[in-house]
Amino acid sequence: MGSDCLFCKIIDKEIPSDIIYEDDKVIAFSDIDPKAPQHKLIIPRQHISTVNDLTPENNELVGHMMGVAKKLAAELGIDEKGYRLVMNCNDNGGQMVYHIHLHLLGGRRMTWPPG
Ligand code: 5GP
Ligand code: ZN
Repeated sequence: MGSDCLFCKIIDKEIPSDIIYEDDKVIAFSDIDPKAPQHKLIIPRQHISTVNDLTPENNELVGHMMGVAKKLAAELGIDEKGYRLVMNCNDNGGQMVYHIHLHLLGGRRMTWPPG
């Protein structure tokens, strides 16, 4: 699935990206339009359009995405000061790419509430 999905194309390396981590379940790369000094995206190799499409069978995968984000935050040196993990869902959530992705944002103080 995902022949016209941008992130599936990044996984298949049809579209180049700055991949900083990959394993059999996920890949992580730099966001092309960073919203913070550090902005990485962690995505599953499996095409899942939105958080609404997750099933209990995906629980381990989503947990793994969080674990990779934690590891990358440490490698990027943003773990002690802190960072933000975000998954946007559908229009009101601000989702632009319909292949789930976990945003890892750091290197500056985040504001709350989000915009
Ligand atoms: P969303 O708004 O769906 O939660 O986030 C999509 C993210 O993907 C945005 O932060 C956007 O900058 C990023 N993005 C969109 N197109 C590309 C691309 O071709 N390459 C990379 N690396 N990031 C992209
Ligand atoms: Zn996809």
